[in-house]
Amino acid sequence: MKTKKKVWIIVGTLLILTMAFMAPMMSRMPSPQADRIDGNNIVGIDAGGSYSWVIPTKTGVVLVDAGWDNEGKALKAEIGDRKVHAILITHGHFDHTGGLALFPEATVYIGPDEAPLLKGEAEAGGWMARMSTTMMNPSAYTPAHLQEFKDGDVIEIDGEKFQAIHTRGHTKGSAMYIWNDVLFTGDTIVGRGDYVNEIPEPTYDDYDAVQSNVAKVLAFPFNHIADGHVGLHTDAYRQVKSYIEGK
Ligand SMILES: [Zn+2]
Repeated sequence: MKTKKKVWIIVGTLLILTMAFMAPMMSRMPSPQADRIDGNNIVGIDAGGSYSWVIPTKTGVVLVDAGWDNEGKALKAEIGDRKVHAILITHGHFDHTGGLALFPEATVYIGPDEAPLLKGEAEAGGWMARMSTTMMNPSAYTPAHLQEFKDGDVIEIDGEKFQAIHTRGHTKGSAMYIWNDVLFTGDTIVGRGDYVNEIPEPTYDDYDAVQSNVAKVLAFPFNHIADGHVGLHTDAYRQVKSYIEGK
């Protein structure tokens, strides 16, 4: 057999095996609720495959995550002429940070040890996250105003308070934020209707660390979850508690 033909057979077989292997894992990834979610005084915009959450403040807005839409049409339309004071990043995967360049004036908050991943200086830990980064080849961007919070910090922005919690696992510096009674979870856990759990395991740096680190959020009151890929969910404290206790 000619070498070229052999190579194609190997590539094809590998591709089929990869697809067969990934399909059941991707079925753990539920679809987003809507392109635009409006509830509980926040708006979630599906910005290129992940949600950017828009939270109103006294004189502008705060975003949780920036999505991955280089033009950010829908997100910009939602914000209008309001000032983006800050962007709280749940983690440094490109699909949550790709839109940062749209708001160069905003202060960008991240969790401990997350800066190298956000700047493109470190690789994602989970093989699936690493593979999609290689495939998508996102351009590196370092925000001009980057602030690392310490676990438990309360970040005050334009009259609003955000409880920052370091929930290492999906990435080293993965974070959750609580504003009023909403917990922003990023990709660490997502809502499934009447329960919460994780997205596919190979997207995590340290899957085994997730449950114990998420347990930290139960020290704070909240009733809703706004996650990175599914949407907005109610009755969330009870669901997170049973996730911690019953997994
Ligand atoms: Zn992620």
